Amino acid sequence: MGKRTVKPRALGVEAATASKPQRQAPPAAANPTPMAPVLPVANAPSMFEILDRVENDTLGLISENLGECTRCRLHKQRNKIVFGAGNPRAELVFVGEGPGRDEDMQGVPFVGRAGKLLTQMIEAMGLTRGDVYICNVVKCRPPENRKPEDDEVATCSPYLFRQLDVIAPKAIVCLGATAAQALLKTQDPISQFRGTWFDYRGTKLLPTYHPAYLLRNPAAKGEVWKDLQKVMAHLGLKVKKASR
Ligand code: URA
Repeated sequence: MGKRTVKPRALGVEAATASKPQRQAPPAAANPTPMAPVLPVANAPSMFEILDRVENDTLGLISENLGECTRCRLHKQRNKIVFGAGNPRAELVFVGEGPGRDEDMQGVPFVGRAGKLLTQMIEAMGLTRGDVYICNVVKCRPPENRKPEDDEVATCSPYLFRQLDVIAPKAIVCLGATAAQALLKTQDPISQFRGTWFDYRGTKLLPTYHPAYLLRNPAAKGEVWKDLQKVMAHLGLKVKKASR
């Protein structure tokens, strides 16, 4: 694969130096003066972003470039690479941390207990798994489901960046800190910025809690549902009224 440096779109130069990811402007009510949106969807990518992208890239090519990857230590214990699954033209992409045991066995993301909860979250949005695309920061299972190390994330995340560039969704939802930190280039804890919209290379990105966290902390489900409703509003999806 050609060498490729990745810069998050509108975070630009600031992102390399700032410790906190950029936040969106306060809601209009808090600032009645009309102002240009802080995170415009760019009409055209900047020259730097064009140079940053792999020409004529496809999911197939990314998967081929990944091959039977041995670039980091995670390959040693993996059973199957978990590349990603879903609609290659999805308007919504969910990004998790890395495969667990079930995913490693099947080669499919989010098929274990956390995956079942993610499926319910997607269905609560009025979508199916086939409507969205689901992938992870690292494509091989970390032993004992530990968090991926920084060097593993650095080695694998360029494939994620390419996946996101190719799919070009309208929204990205980061499930948990690893995904949010990898895409926003921050070390801040997710509790400080979940539920806030960010710009990732011209695409709206919303970090929320990982479904595995929700399995341990079901009380946080309400906050995640609020986050997903923001995503639904952005995508023009209607919340179904509860049947009486
Ligand atoms: N957790 C993740 O982050 N990704 C998966 O694919 C499964 C569980």
